[in-house]
Amino acid sequence: MTQRIHLLPPQVADAIAAGEVVERPASVVKELCENALDAGATRVEVDVDGGGLVRIRVSDDGAGIAATDLPLAVARHATSKIAEVDDLWRVRSLGFRGEALASIAAVSELCITSRTRDSDAAALLRVRAAELVEEAPTAAAPGTAVEVRDLFFNTPARLRFLRTPRTETTACIRAVGDMALSHPAVAFTIRCDGRIALRSPGGGTLRDALRATLRTDRYAELIDVALDGEVSVRGAVSQPRAHQATRGGMVLIVNTRRVHNRALLAAVEEAYRGLLPGDRHPFGVVVVEIDPNSVDVNVHPTKREVRFREEGRVFAAVQRACWAALQGASPSSAWLEWDAAHGGVPQAFLSVRQHGPQETAAAALRLPGMGIEWRSLATANAPLPEASAEAQGAPDAEAPPPSAAAEPLGDPAGLGALGQLRAVGQVGNAWLVADSPRGVVLVDPHAAHEKVLYAELLAAWGSAGGVAGRGGEGGAAQLLLLPAVVECDAPQMARYEAHAGFVQSCGFTLEPFGPNLLRCTAVPAAARAADAARLVVELLDTLDLGDRPASERQHRVAALVACHSAVRLGDPLDVAEQQRLLDRLVAAPGGTTCPHGRPTVMVLEDAALRKAFRRPA
Ligand code: ADP
Ligand code: MG
Repeated sequence: MTQRIHLLPPQVADAIAAGEVVERPASVVKELCENALDAGATRVEVDVDGGGLVRIRVSDDGAGIAATDLPLAVARHATSKIAEVDDLWRVRSLGFRGEALASIAAVSELCITSRTRDSDAAALLRVRAAELVEEAPTAAAPGTAVEVRDLFFNTPARLRFLRTPRTETTACIRAVGDMALSHPAVAFTIRCDGRIALRSPGGGTLRDALRATLRTDRYAELIDVALDGEVSVRGAVSQPRAHQATRGGMVLIVNTRRVHNRALLAAVEEAYRGLLPGDRHPFGVVVVEIDPNSVDVNVHPTKREVRFREEGRVFAAVQRACWAALQGASPSSAWLEWDAAHGGVPQAFLSVRQHGPQETAAAALRLPGMGIEWRSLATANAPLPEASAEAQGAPDAEAPPPSAAAEPLGDPAGLGALGQLRAVGQVGNAWLVADSPRGVVLVDPHAAHEKVLYAELLAAWGSAGGVAGRGGEGGAAQLLLLPAVVECDAPQMARYEAHAGFVQSCGFTLEPFGPNLLRCTAVPAAARAADAARLVVELLDTLDLGDRPASERQHRVAALVACHSAVRLGDPLDVAEQQRLLDRLVAAPGGTTCPHGRPTVMVLEDAALRKAFRRPA
């Protein structure tokens, strides 16, 4: 049955967060899609022409609006979704303010055609700049279509704030992509200037919706997130080896609503701590389901923000869920691929699926005398054309193009998936070679040792990011035979004073030794062989964190100590040492990347080697 529309009493209207609902074409698309979803639609079709300024049309197969209610639908504060102030705390629909159609109708020519399921005729209502132009019966299938033309024709100031039609179109596609992700059971299509830009199947799974909205190479890098409880967390987030330059790639959904919430985003990013380079960000979707009574959706005019009654619990759940998922991250993998185009000359391509700033440096590697050139597929292949739509986040210029030749690994499951790692030896005092049931594993000993020390330090310091109960000796304090005296400037001294207790708890013993001098008599045992004076200076600089959370400070100090203490590339290791390092690496959470986000291991899959050496699989 169709709910009737009514005007909200003034006290309810006044309790609604006021502000501009329609900022740009994408806000129109979002509001109209939300109305379709609230009407129980299973299919929503969106057309956007000329960046949305020429025409936006959203049609659905939902409940429809009774002909007599059409004029009310475009009246301000008229809604069928809430009736009293308390309803604002139990909102289950996406809309509730009764403002969207009125606001859009005020700045465009808006035409609604609608037919309820139990009526055999449709009705049409046309409004221009809030003035009624036409009201008439018409023929249409059950459902609603809203067409918006000449958006902002009477508000030139608003027009001036818009970006290029292309950018506005992209924002519209993104809005529909967000809808598809938050409502995987609904089939969405968006056509831009007549061309389909995105189509979701509506099959009901988040994975299907993700496949429809993400570039294939990004989709291939997702790990599932699942945590049940009073706060349920689902989703799919990027492997630590895949990351992007901006924060815009992480879509947060709370109770089917796409929201922007800095703290929630920080909770996701916290789960990646020690896994990503400092300036890079993960992408994906995190869906939080929680009792609607504990979420306030009435805080922002476009409903893009929400407030939680118990923020801490929600953030902890999100952080825990993502962290658990990331324990299953898979190592960077390399593929060998014969290039048929080179005929008889054996030519192999080495593709390193490791996304990051350093990959260009490793692009080409020639093996002398073998007639084999190893190249990164990322540079060997011309970029593929942009997939249907890059709905999530700004297209990432640094991400390598999807490679047709590279088959992604099967289900990601952490370093453990490689099975028993047996140390075989070391190449040029640098790379370790290990034997695995999956193939040949190459290890960067410095990165691996860094990760091991980092995880063990955090465990010793009692941080959630560490290996519980496997702290090792590295975290305890080690007295220095010769104390180090460090000269500090005033800010360094001030930071030391602010964090003296914390520094002590990390295993450093520092004391003032004169006006601008500190004396260091002990360091964390892991760092016993490091240059104490240099370490202390960097420690003092690392402490400059303002009011960042203590866990972040701990992460930074652990990463710093690990970096100073780990074996160097070029240090020879005997086989027993190599094996010990491998065993500790497998035990370290998130062992596939070092605390700065560099990969620790590369896998040359047996299957790829067989192909390259023309051996039957
Ligand atoms: P709100 O969604 O906050 O109620 P709107 O201005 O977006 O306010 O819509 C006003 C009313 O018009 C809605 O409450 C709903 O009853 C009706 N309506 C709008 N769009 C649709 C649609 N696509 N299908 C059915 N009813 C709709
Ligand atoms: Mg609405």
